[in-house]
Amino acid sequence: MPTPRRIELVLRIDGEPLQVSAPQPPVRGRLDELLPAMQAIDNAAIDHAIRKAEATGRQVTCAKGCSACCRAQPVPVTPPEAHALLLLVEAMPAARRREVEARFADRVARLHKAGLADAFLHRDPALDADGARTLARDYFALGLVCPFLQDDACSIHPQRPFVCRQYLVTSDPALCADPFANPVDVIPMPLQAATAMLSAASQAMATPQHTVPLTLALAHARAHREALRQRVDAEPMFRHWLQALSSG
Ligand code: SF4
Repeated sequence: MPTPRRIELVLRIDGEPLQVSAPQPPVRGRLDELLPAMQAIDNAAIDHAIRKAEATGRQVTCAKGCSACCRAQPVPVTPPEAHALLLLVEAMPAARRREVEARFADRVARLHKAGLADAFLHRDPALDADGARTLARDYFALGLVCPFLQDDACSIHPQRPFVCRQYLVTSDPALCADPFANPVDVIPMPLQAATAMLSAASQAMATPQHTVPLTLALAHARAHREALRQRVDAEPMFRHWLQALSSG
C-alpha cells in the first residue's frame, strides 16, 4: 500500500512560525475530504495554544473520563463535518450503527418536542447574539448527551469535530457542568477552524452555510446530501480555508 502523501506548511501563529505536516488534500473532491488535512493543521495550532497556556503556569484539566462538555452543550458542527459524521455512522458495523442512529433519533425527537429543532436546522439569518445565546441555553437545558459518547469517552476521537478539539479548559472540570452559570476558563485558540470551514463551504456551495448542533448533524447532512457530496475544485477551497483561519 503506498504511503499517503503529505504536505508541509509553515503557519504564522502569534507572530511565530509553526511547522505543520498534514495529509495531502485532494485536488478535486468533496469538502469533507479536506478534513484530514484541516484537522492536522488544527491539532498543531491547538498544541501551540496548550504550550502557550502552560508557559504561563496554566494546566489543561480536561482528561479522559471527564465528559461534562459532551453532555449538554450544542457542539456546533459545520455542514462538511456533519456530512463526514453521517458517512462515518453509515460505515459502522450494523449493530453499532443501529445503536448510534437510535441515539441520534432520540435527541432529534426531543429537540422537535421542545420546539427547537427547526430553529437550529433552518437558522434565521437575522438571529442576533442574544437570540443565539437564548437558543443555546434552551438547548443546554434539555441535557442531550452526545450520541458518540461511550463509557464517558469520545468513541470517534480521531474524527471529532473542530469544536470538540478546541474546547480545552484550565479551570476546575466540575465547572463545565454548567458553562453558562460558571466561570469556565477556556484556552483561547489562535485559529478559527470551524468559522473558516463555514466560509469555504459557503464559497464552494454558493450559498450561506451555518453550523448545526452535533445531535442534528445526521439530519442536516441527510437533508443536504446532494449538495454535500458534490465534488469541487478542492485546492482553492483549501487555500480559502487557510486564509480564513485567522480572520474568523
Ligand atoms: S464528538 Fe466526542 S468529543 Fe465531541 S461532544 Fe461528542 S463525545 Fe464529546
